[in-house]
Amino acid sequence: MTQSFWQDFKLNTNTSKLKNYDYVIVGGGIAGLSTAYWLLQKDSNLKIGIVEKNQIAFGASGRNAGFVTCGSTEHFIKLKDQFGLEKAVEIWKFSEDNRKLLQEHIIQDNADKVDFKITGSCTVAANSERWGYYKEIAKTMRAQNIDVYEVNASDMDRDYGVTGFEGGIVYAGDGYIHPVKLLGEILKKLNVYIHENTEVQSVSKSGDVFVIKTDQETLHAAQVVITVNAYLPLVNPQFSQLIVPGRGQILLTKPLPQFVKGPCYLTKHLCYFRQLPTGELLIGGFRNLSAETEKTHTDETTAIIQNALYDFVKNHFRLGAQAEIARQWSGIMGYSPDGQMIIGSLFVDPGLHYLAGCSGHGMGLSFKAAQTLVNGIYGAEIPHYLHAKRFKV
Ligand SMILES: Cc1cc2nc3c(=O)[nH]c(=O)nc-3n(C[C@H](O)[C@H](O)[C@H](O)COP(=O)(O)OP(=O)(O)OC[C@H]3O[C@@H](n4cnc5c(N)ncnc54)[C@H](O)[C@@H]3O)c2cc1C
Repeated sequence: MTQSFWQDFKLNTNTSKLKNYDYVIVGGGIAGLSTAYWLLQKDSNLKIGIVEKNQIAFGASGRNAGFVTCGSTEHFIKLKDQFGLEKAVEIWKFSEDNRKLLQEHIIQDNADKVDFKITGSCTVAANSERWGYYKEIAKTMRAQNIDVYEVNASDMDRDYGVTGFEGGIVYAGDGYIHPVKLLGEILKKLNVYIHENTEVQSVSKSGDVFVIKTDQETLHAAQVVITVNAYLPLVNPQFSQLIVPGRGQILLTKPLPQFVKGPCYLTKHLCYFRQLPTGELLIGGFRNLSAETEKTHTDETTAIIQNALYDFVKNHFRLGAQAEIARQWSGIMGYSPDGQMIIGSLFVDPGLHYLAGCSGHGMGLSFKAAQTLVNGIYGAEIPHYLHAKRFKV
């Protein structure tokens, strides 16, 4: 089992516990905490229990790269090809809204406290053909009021410390954060009961009440929200075709002089990197080198991917040759069949809700996704392309 750099930051989760709740939320990641936040915005008297198998922020929410982004230029292209331009813009703006909501409701004046900074993010073109296409796409994005601009090879060297690439597209609205400190700030705003080291084994119904059986105790709730991300099929096998696990691996170097301006995507290598305010270079990706072994729930790093990450650091960064490894870790993402989130109730019971499938973008999606889920519980329509009911099981 690995431990991320972020997880060294310990959260204060000592609270009392109840047996009967208005809502039980299963899973203590950003999706679970955000759901509790929005429920309490609707009704501050709600009794909410959060049940977490390990500790809050143990899952992907405590192990990611801390990009608060709408995604790469490649991501936009993929969305456009899959759903058409209008929907691609809508999905992009969903992430823009997510960031604004985080700033307005959680980060507020505490940007320094959670290491949050808007820096823009850059997607580096893999070759001249892609670079030409990116420039066309940037025009399309600008026409949709998405604030992107081109940077050339010398800008790449100056702003991101990487050489050997022709140029890239910067989207100005993106930034980065310390993910566990962010979860800590959400927690501070919650009046909830937290059951850590408690694994939910089944959720059933007795009359009007949900019965949540765990390895520690049995809880009761009027409604249940399951936010266990990639582990959803393990909690409810009906999701085995709908959520597939995907492991991501990260390498962190010891501190280097500052040379990387903000989050950067190098989609040629399916990798991404940023530098922490304290100088550590964080790099992740290369899942394509070992695609089958990375479809797993097992939290461990592998030599093939970690070696590729370290080689990349040494060979592509201006200061990479002197970089020493400080930490290596992994985390598990959850992917839906169409790459979009699964929000709402799926099967027979309207009181049992799900939020899953944030893939590699949960920092950029989950806060608004949770708001969408809670608004749905309170009667608003959940967009069809996000609704759990779009899938036939
Ligand atoms: C290496 C890596 C890098 C990433 N980088 C980024 C990034 O830079 N930006 C970005 O936006 N996204 C990134 N992501 C994706 C992002 O981290 C996830 O989309 C997001 O954290 C998902 O949040 P969640 O709350 O749904 O799931 P999680 O954080 O995984 O939380 C689910 C929780 O459920 C708990 N659980 C599981 N089963 C049970 C059970 N039976 N009973 C009780 N509890 C249970 C788990 O222990 C876990 O804590 C990355 C992911 C990885 C792995």
